[in-house]
Amino acid sequence: MAANGTSVSIQDLSLNFGAVSVLQTLNLDVAEGEFIVLLGPSGCGKSTLLNCIAGLLDISEGRIFIKGKNVTWEEPKDRGIGMVFQSYALYPQMTVEKNLSFGLRVAGIAKDEIAKRIARAAEILQIEPLLQRKPAALSGGQRQRVAIGRALVRDVDVFLFDEPLSNLDAKLRSELRVEIKLLHRKLQNTMIYVTHDQIEAMTLADRIAVMKGGVIQQLDAPQTIYNRPVNRFVAGFLGSPA
Ligand code: ADP
Ligand code: MG
Repeated sequence: MAANGTSVSIQDLSLNFGAVSVLQTLNLDVAEGEFIVLLGPSGCGKSTLLNCIAGLLDISEGRIFIKGKNVTWEEPKDRGIGMVFQSYALYPQMTVEKNLSFGLRVAGIAKDEIAKRIARAAEILQIEPLLQRKPAALSGGQRQRVAIGRALVRDVDVFLFDEPLSNLDAKLRSELRVEIKLLHRKLQNTMIYVTHDQIEAMTLADRIAVMKGGVIQQLDAPQTIYNRPVNRFVAGFLGSPA
């Protein structure tokens, strides 16, 4: 991991759906190993921004760099990112182990390497006893661990999370929040994490990007945002009463 290197650089990114501008000339530099949370109300463009980084949406203007490489027009699979969605999106007919290995087999990775990566991910996420089960036999929290495992085995530089905990009950949510934090400590990779939950943002982020209407209102450490919000919106959404 290069110290202080830039992992993801978003430059003058705009995205329109038809005549509607969803992201407006947005700029964001994420350092290597940094945990960035995109925080904002529903509809502010968080998922859209994440999907642009992942390459799941074509952008209208601007450029996206990952580890210094212009990936603006690269296929999602060639971007070195792993994505964890809100809905688990596991293959229901496959065991957990097959869910974890499927993408790797498609990518032509050798069998023993696949086994090594699955063993490591299963240990980190404590899902070893679940490997032969199918998703229907898992709890919500266990499913979400497997979903994280699918990103983990791909050995990617950057993890993208889109509200991974919002379908879980409060107790599981706080448990998995701690696990994601520990995972980040262990892996020290770059994480970009979307949520509308202020507590998740405050506890997970190195820096929070507070978004409204497709614009980043403030990008700062949680304490700075909390103590010195730049405007009434940020103050109302997260900061102390201004
Ligand atoms: P968030 O994830 O912050 O809740 P989204 O990124 O999903 O917000 O959506 C941002 C805005 O873009 C919303 O106003 C939404 O209605 C609009 N939008 C999202 N996807 C599409 C689409 N495929 N076509 C048209 N408008 C869309
Ligand atoms: Mg969303």
